[in-house]
Amino acid sequence: MKNRPNLLPVRLYGDDLLRKKLPELDFNTEGLQEFIDDLIYTMYKRDGVGLAANQVGSEWRLFVIDPDWANSENDNKNPIVMINPVIESRSGEIVYEEGCISLPDIFGSVKRSANISYSYTDRYGKRITENAEQTKAVVIQHEYDHLEGILFVDHLGTLARLKIMHQLKRLQARAKDGQNILEGLSL
Ligand SMILES: [Zn+2]
Repeated sequence: MKNRPNLLPVRLYGDDLLRKKLPELDFNTEGLQEFIDDLIYTMYKRDGVGLAANQVGSEWRLFVIDPDWANSENDNKNPIVMINPVIESRSGEIVYEEGCISLPDIFGSVKRSANISYSYTDRYGKRITENAEQTKAVVIQHEYDHLEGILFVDHLGTLARLKIMHQLKRLQARAKDGQNILEGLSL
């Protein structure tokens, strides 16, 4: 019988791993499927619609998303795993209020592309090419940024950054004290 998935500890703003550009992942890496199960489990437990591997301490180049879950009335889950994703083209513009599991209680309006085309390897090893727009495009761009070591606050203008400076400094101080990990259940 399969083990229950694990709740993985989440790295918070200030942690060096969130600033690392993750290298290409070999799909045949041992333990990948178990890790994917844990990543999906942790995303839902943290009420996220996306979670990247470096947010939970891994250097594997992948993330999971479920952009429709937040709007789903009957808790319909449809996790999409993207390994070694590439954003092939971008067009249009959308401004969206974003948050991040690694930056609790911090939000900001980010300007992104409204339409993207992208490719990725799914959890079964199949390479897929697709298009996305609006919310799904935003979520993919946010998670893709994580794999590049970029956080949504990097996209904010000076004024918006000033507004959240105190919160960022507090998170960074926690990171310095080695308390940069979000543990326990969030219910
Ligand atoms: Zn994030």
